[in-house]
Amino acid sequence: MTDGNWQIDYQCPQCGAPVMLDETDRILACPYCRTRLYLFRQNGFRYIIPHNQERNREIYYLPYWRVKGSLFFFRDLQPQFRFIDINRKAVGLPMIPPSLGVRPQAMKLRFLTPEIPGIFLAPEGSAMESIFPPEHHPVNTGCDFIGEVSSLIYTPVYLEKSTLYDAVTNRRLGNPADPGLFRDFPRTSPISDGKILFLPTLCPHCGWDLAGGKDALTLHCGNCHRLWRYRRDRLEELDFTILPSPSQPDSYLPFWKMKIAAKDFPLESYADLIRLANLPRVATPVLETTPLYFWSPAFKISPALYLRWIRQMTVSQPAVERHANPESIPSRGLHPVTLPLEEAVEGVRTNIGQLLSDKRRLLHTLAKTKIVLLDSDLVYHPFIRKNSELIHAGMGLTVDRNALSLAFHLS
Ligand SMILES: [Zn+2]
Ligand SMILES: [Zn+2]
Repeated sequence: MTDGNWQIDYQCPQCGAPVMLDETDRILACPYCRTRLYLFRQNGFRYIIPHNQERNREIYYLPYWRVKGSLFFFRDLQPQFRFIDINRKAVGLPMIPPSLGVRPQAMKLRFLTPEIPGIFLAPEGSAMESIFPPEHHPVNTGCDFIGEVSSLIYTPVYLEKSTLYDAVTNRRLGNPADPGLFRDFPRTSPISDGKILFLPTLCPHCGWDLAGGKDALTLHCGNCHRLWRYRRDRLEELDFTILPSPSQPDSYLPFWKMKIAAKDFPLESYADLIRLANLPRVATPVLETTPLYFWSPAFKISPALYLRWIRQMTVSQPAVERHANPESIPSRGLHPVTLPLEEAVEGVRTNIGQLLSDKRRLLHTLAKTKIVLLDSDLVYHPFIRKNSELIHAGMGLTVDRNALSLAFHLS
């Protein structure tokens, strides 16, 4: 949930002008012809590091998995987090470096597209498997991993006189190799499992230009007030609720409201939460039948703030009612969803853990408990702008505007 994004060099598909993208960008906005396109690729994005060799040299591209996100775990009964940004080689070639280090950050990457010549070795395993060995995999350790990026990056090499060279630096990689070095490694083609789609950003209902920051997973129509997200190559309408505000809000931030089940932990009613967290409230018959929801921001914020907000919102259980007048929503005042529901569900275990009153006894059980999402809703909460901060209109949660995505448009 921090910066350090890789940069991708691309050409506007409409006018050919050079466009620089951040790896988390989902919208390509051409500054020259004003074309706006939504980028989509099934199974994550794939990049190459460009080489500087002559055209006729045979280039082999070696795959590296890359994962970026925040890992949450407990130490001394306290929730902790660690930022993860790791890449690892995805083929068992002993002479190549285990990681690309910071090279992708120092260079402009390109999308892997069909016209790029070269021989591409197929990656082994998956990104998560290669970054987390079984004994450290979140699934086996009861940690929560909220992923931001999962991608594959190809780095170029070439063989000369049976020796392998880095095609960017011309540095020799190891001792002379068998000329048939790559014979036993399965190859892949740049489009074998899907290509990048460039999709329109017009409202399917009314044709209006949809709004959304460049890393937006949702697009909002300022004309008919519908919210959309891409599912493969189709825009799908997303149901959402807007909370009323005591005063005119400056913007709305999205939150996931989730109904959760976890074996060994009753989480059905608010009274269950009172017992679980030993809250200073009486579990009245009404609270025994008041459904309990877990809350999470649907946008990226710092892990420390994230831990505080998921706890505070879940304890306070904001009442959700329909907004009386969707027409009054400022057209650019809805912050786009940048944290998908699947990732928000990943943080629920940590939230239950930090709420537990008897951590010493129960954290261990929780680590082995399967968390199941039963139902969800996307809810926009009103925020008031004050100096550099946004303050929740009803709950006093505060976030620095700069801590939100830079693409955040205020009306
Ligand atoms: Zn253009
Ligand atoms: Zn519309």
